[in-house]
Amino acid sequence: MDPSEFDDYVAMIHGTRARFAGRLDVRLGIESDFYPGVEPWLRELHARASLSHVLGSVHYQVSDYRKLFYTGDVFSYQELYYEHLALSAESGLFDTLAHPDLIKNESPDDWDFERMRPVIARALDRIAATGVAMELNTSGVQKALPEMNPSPGQLAMMCERGIPVVLGADAHVPERVGDGYLAAMQTLQQAGYSEISYFIDRKRQSLAIGEAVDSWIGVA
Ligand SMILES: [Zn+2]
Repeated sequence: MDPSEFDDYVAMIHGTRARFAGRLDVRLGIESDFYPGVEPWLRELHARASLSHVLGSVHYQVSDYRKLFYTGDVFSYQELYYEHLALSAESGLFDTLAHPDLIKNESPDDWDFERMRPVIARALDRIAATGVAMELNTSGVQKALPEMNPSPGQLAMMCERGIPVVLGADAHVPERVGDGYLAAMQTLQQAGYSEISYFIDRKRQSLAIGEAVDSWIGVA
């Protein structure tokens, strides 16, 4: 979204919220790109509307980001991604870190989870200290490395550190809203989680996974 479209976006959500009042709880949220240096700009952007949920993303594939940070070394790009992920949590700008192992798709053949484990562990220690949540994003199964973001291995490391998880489909098209919901719940349980989180007016709420599954069966 271009910054000039922000007011239109807010107006569209407010209109939809009014239209579905009493039937569907429509909330205003945003996914903002993070890299070191953009904090003051984002702080102003997020203050322009009353947001219910703010996701922070390190998008390694965006050309501006790549121009600034890619040096030609895949492994150091992977390491830098986790450094920026930790910094995004420490910035205090975000409720949730979106698709928090997206970098594995930069060059799937060069992705070695075990090699990255110590790097990931250090970043997760820093993220856990901030209390910021992380997303389980089901759209990952459609990407070059077909598994959710993050991987089951990283999810287990997040669970060990008590990092809350928010579920997201990253839908982009209406048909994908809620996609992978039950599979994600199962993946979370296998990683050791018993609760799932979501945000209302930027305050984290939690729900037992069993209740979240029942609510899905109620609407499906
Ligand atoms: Zn994203």
